[in-house]
Amino acid sequence: MSPVRVKCPTCQRELDWATAPLRPFCSERCRLIDLGAWLSEQRAIPGDTAPEESPVTERRGPDEEN
Ligand SMILES: [Zn+2]
Repeated sequence: MSPVRVKCPTCQRELDWATAPLRPFCSERCRLIDLGAWLSEQRAIPGDTAPEESPVTERRGPDEEN
């Protein structure tokens, strides 16, 4: 019985399917990278690049006007 070798989709590193806890990824990092890429593809809006981190604007409730 030969071990099944799979390639990490993110970094193309070969790993043993049987012993890779995060298969098909080689690591948590690669898993998150792939997930993040997938999500950003789904959410990407052409022509509109949002800043990575927008400053939290002060939230003013209506009561604060008094
Ligand atoms: Zn990897």
